[in-house]
Amino acid sequence: STASYIVGNWKMNGSAADVAVLQAIAEAAAANGHVDVGICPPATLIAAFAAAAGKVQIGAQDCHAKASGAHTGNLSAAMIREAGATCSIVGHSERRADQGETDADVAAKAEALHAAGMGAILCVGETLEERDSGNAIAIVTAQLAASLPASASGDWLSVAYEPVWAIGTGRVPVAEDIAAMHAALRATLVAKLGEAGQGVRILYGGSVNPANAAEILAIADVGGALVGGASLKAETFIPIIEAAP
Ligand code: 13P
Repeated sequence: STASYIVGNWKMNGSAADVAVLQAIAEAAAANGHVDVGICPPATLIAAFAAAAGKVQIGAQDCHAKASGAHTGNLSAAMIREAGATCSIVGHSERRADQGETDADVAAKAEALHAAGMGAILCVGETLEERDSGNAIAIVTAQLAASLPASASGDWLSVAYEPVWAIGTGRVPVAEDIAAMHAALRATLVAKLGEAGQGVRILYGGSVNPANAAEILAIADVGGALVGGASLKAETFIPIIEAAP
């Protein structure tokens, strides 16, 4: 798809009362029909949010690669779909760090979502140490190549470039660095997927806010944004939707 894709990742935040926030976001999504909008609440809120989502896609923040079995505490793609989600984030840096998820785990999770008829938002990004090493582009493109399921296409998969050092810090790469990374990720997608790699949207994530959204979303090959903190309130998320080209 060529429509801008603006997705909120609520992480471990929110409660049932926040359906009011979702309803305000749904009104903004209806008024900005050219933008694809998603919210990924905690899994406990997926069902209630899906019932009030309008055209907002409701997504999970993770899923297990297996369809069922002895995996205490985990949720399969079919389970989150039954709850009302149509997509999920996979491979967020917080899960790669906190749960030790590998590139192979992330590829398997994305395949499981596809097998369940769902979308996936596959996250990649370098740490500050990796950025300072001067090798960020080589590191992140290798991460994408190893995390990308073989069946990937823009019909169901998006990529999110999220520099770890930009998440929740108020720090954002300069536009030239975002452009260079997105161009390199596009080249990786085309090398791995052929023509199908052209249709995969590449989102930017990390300290996107109402003040910087328009500039970031205007960068070549930035197909949208994955928004953390600023997605928790309608008054900061709606201006980001409105900033999308
Ligand atoms: P912030 O927008 O809070 O920096 O979080 C970005 C992020 O991790 C989205 O997945």
